[in-house]
Amino acid sequence: MTRNRWLRALCAVWLLALALPLGAQTRENDYLRQDLARFRVWYCPEDAQVVRGLWRELHERIPLVERQLRLALADTVTFVITPSEKEWYRLTAGAPLWANGIAYAERGVAVLKSPRFGLPYGPLPSTAVHEYVHLLLEAGARETDFPRWLNEGLAQVLAGQLDYLDDALLARAAAAGRVHSFSRIEGMMSMNALDARQAYAESAVAVQLLQSRFGMSGISNLVHELRAGAPYDETFRRIFAVSPGAFESEYALYVQTHFRISFFGDTELWVSVAFVLLVGAAGVAVYLRRRRTVRRWREEDQRERRVPEGTTPPPYTINYEIVRGRLHESEDDSPPDENLPHDRPVPGS
Ligand SMILES: [Zn+2]
Repeated sequence: MTRNRWLRALCAVWLLALALPLGAQTRENDYLRQDLARFRVWYCPEDAQVVRGLWRELHERIPLVERQLRLALADTVTFVITPSEKEWYRLTAGAPLWANGIAYAERGVAVLKSPRFGLPYGPLPSTAVHEYVHLLLEAGARETDFPRWLNEGLAQVLAGQLDYLDDALLARAAAAGRVHSFSRIEGMMSMNALDARQAYAESAVAVQLLQSRFGMSGISNLVHELRAGAPYDETFRRIFAVSPGAFESEYALYVQTHFRISFFGDTELWVSVAFVLLVGAAGVAVYLRRRRTVRRWREEDQRERRVPEGTTPPPYTINYEIVRGRLHESEDDSPPDENLPHDRPVPGS
């Protein structure tokens, strides 16, 4: 076997060794199951601790949520806690990593992420309640017409997840005229993490505004009608005596006026401004110092060149043309380090 062949064989073995554990990493057989009343939780052994907190939250929070919406699910709801990114991608068929959970209403299943792999907003139990609200709105319902802002906003408000409400983010969006329209929020799942965060915050603000105007009982009426398959625009107008478009304008104005004030309290913004100012000031200081140095050099240069009165210029100058010519001549016949001609200045004309 030649050296190349050996190398290729070694590479193949090494790749095989890498691929084998990857294939075996699927955790399908590791999941454990716990059932309690209408709920089922699937989890891996290392998340046993999290499951205890989850049961507590489901037990305390879900009856409140159901009471507020005057709605409960009769079928079993299943929560799956994925132990790793790989499992998250496998079970959600590649849902964005910024999402904390995904609800599959038609199956009554919510997929959650273990807190051991990145959980940017809030703990797992409140995410579970958030996903349960999604199931509550849509599971077992007829073809529903829930706009995403209403769906996501209600899930956050009812799960008590106020960590999405980033005042500074909303203030910046309002100041820059970048407040998402309701139709843009509809495409939330294809947004990047920052836009999605803003869309979540906006949904929560919209639902809070709707609640302050018409109460949770008004929203509950809308939810019941939409679950029964009623068209959204018409039902919204009938229940709230305002069109969805007019409510959206009211909401946009609310974001503009309410969040602009906190623009001045935006620490992140002021830290950035201070950083830019500092960098600018450092640049100006360097420029000024360099200009001073160049001026000093120029002055020194002029002082040296100035011929004092009453003196005559030196009687000769060095003629480098001749020096170079002599250097070539001497390279031909004598070693270069002997009697170098530039040691002996040549009088000029
Ligand atoms: Zn959600």
